[in-house]
Amino acid sequence: MNEPLLEVNSLTLDYHLAGKKMRALDKVSFNLEKGQVMGVAGESGCGKSTMGLAIMGLLPEIARIPRGEIIFQGDDLLRKSPGEMDKNIRGQKISMIFQNPQNALNPVFKIGTQMTDILRFQEINKKEKKSSRKKLYEMAVTQLRETGISDPGERIYNYPFEFSGGMKQRVMIAMALSSQTSLLIADEPTTALDLTIEAQILELLMKLRSKYDTSILYISHNLGVLSQISDRIMIMYAGRIFEMGPTSTVLGSPRHPYSSALLESLPGRHTKGKRLLSIPGHVPSLDQLPPGCSFHPRCPFAEDECSTRVPDLEMVSSDHWSACLLDQRRGRQKWKWT
Ligand code: SF4
Repeated sequence: MNEPLLEVNSLTLDYHLAGKKMRALDKVSFNLEKGQVMGVAGESGCGKSTMGLAIMGLLPEIARIPRGEIIFQGDDLLRKSPGEMDKNIRGQKISMIFQNPQNALNPVFKIGTQMTDILRFQEINKKEKKSSRKKLYEMAVTQLRETGISDPGERIYNYPFEFSGGMKQRVMIAMALSSQTSLLIADEPTTALDLTIEAQILELLMKLRSKYDTSILYISHNLGVLSQISDRIMIMYAGRIFEMGPTSTVLGSPRHPYSSALLESLPGRHTKGKRLLSIPGHVPSLDQLPPGCSFHPRCPFAEDECSTRVPDLEMVSSDHWSACLLDQRRGRQKWKWT
């Protein structure tokens, strides 16, 4: 096995609000190797984005991490000061792209100005010799071309409002990869785009991953997207990992009732004529997490112990991990949701 680029160990995170402590991540552990794509799936409010922001060191002030480690290239990011994260990690070695690229671009500056500012900042950080303004523009044009933007030499003088959503996302990817970042965290980057543009952005990410050996943590509620691009996948629920393993194994033979429910709700995978599953109930709010298995109020297979015992994530077959008490006790089950 290769040395992991990222090793998250027992990451536990609480939000402290109005005198209440709410657990948003609970003992999250996983590894990501160089050049690997890890898909992170689950409904909204399951902790996927919180985990991405924790790795980036971009958590709100109300967040506390009582225990855990985020080891990146051998160093624990949780021990780094905000200054160190700014100077050496964020935007240098780890970058993040979001669902709404327009929020990340400044509407009053041209695309070229914003891209060259980042390139200049990187040179200053690395204490490299300052490039001329012309050279920085040439570099930015090359990056835009690499992300598939046509006429990059002209488009670089446009404002963000002159770009479509898909083009803005390409600009964000160009900016994120401008330092040949080692880890890209992509948080629902194609959710706001139509299917054709989504396919183009996914293809672009895979092309850049192969070229630069970039590892990608791809967060999405869409298992269909993750099945196309991830080497491994983790299913999260209420701040915990419920299932994890190679994508083909988890999606082909899910061991956890929640994963199997997500698959049953996926259009396209379903047998013709059969109704798509709508998982009953909803994800619990952080201040009302049920005791025991947090999924038990929605799980039709729950037994008495499910409301009192918290299942740990255990290996159920080679490199396949699941956190269901019944599955662990009795072996592989067929979860019949419909
Ligand atoms: Fe359902 Fe119990 Fe398994 Fe939780 S532990 S997923 S409640 S069967």
